[in-house]
Amino acid sequence: APAVLALNGSLLVGVAALAGAISLALFGFVYFMLTRPVVRLAKALVKARDGKPISGKQEVIRELQMLHDAATALGSAHRELETTRAQLEQLAHTDVLTGLANRRMFEQQGERAFLHARRYGEALTVIAFDIDHFKRVNDAFGHEGGDAVLRALSTYLREAVRAAEHPVARVGGEEFALLLTHVSLEDAILTAERLRKGIETLAVAMPNGASLHLTVSMGVAQCRDADSNLSALMRRADMALYRAKENGRNRIEQAG
Ligand code: GH3
Ligand code: MG
Ligand code: MG
Repeated sequence: APAVLALNGSLLVGVAALAGAISLALFGFVYFMLTRPVVRLAKALVKARDGKPISGKQEVIRELQMLHDAATALGSAHRELETTRAQLEQLAHTDVLTGLANRRMFEQQGERAFLHARRYGEALTVIAFDIDHFKRVNDAFGHEGGDAVLRALSTYLREAVRAAEHPVARVGGEEFALLLTHVSLEDAILTAERLRKGIETLAVAMPNGASLHLTVSMGVAQCRDADSNLSALMRRADMALYRAKENGRNRIEQAG
């Protein structure tokens, strides 16, 4: 433990030193590239206004050029920061294993859709599904085999569901969820049935060359007045999913 503490300590000192160096460099940049040129330029302008001779015109021009360069540098630094920020945001919303949206993303999209559906009285349906007996896949083919199944299922889902219109996410280990907006309950159940059948016919290549079939159980819940928020709706979808498991798996149950 002391060794770890010492390492953490020197790491912190290093980070602090780096932050110090960056702030010093930033101060230097702002002073020499922005503050000083602007002050000199202002003085020159005052002299020009008062009809006094401006000493060192060449220098004023040089500083103007510096100002222009500084603005350009700041602009490109800002663009780089924005790109990095967007990449970080994308990472925070993506499931690493499958590339699908993660639970955080699903909940954000879901909350927005929920409020919208509430305000305009539109339909909103959640389909929750879970791979049947997934533990057996891991037991038979190892964790790597299980991961291959999760990736194959995700690839299928991405193609089967137009993600922009119907957000689909990996919301847990082997649990997925789909959000349907502006779709009647009957059509949502048809969509669930299409996916259930599609998944049933997938043949997933296992690391050892075997080909594996999988099934999922699904719970479908459509938003009602009594659902106070998205979690209430998702809870009902989960309860229906639980019943689908109880009633034999590879099937769809509608939330009560
Ligand atoms: P059920 O039909 O009732 O859903 O049975 P199940 O075996 O699918 O469900 P259970 O909840 O008992 O087991 C889920 C398993 O999923 C356990 C866990 O090790 C596995 N799992 C969760 N996340 C991952 C993952 O990222 N990769 C792999 N390979 N396995 C995972
Ligand atoms: Mg599960
Ligand atoms: Mg499962």
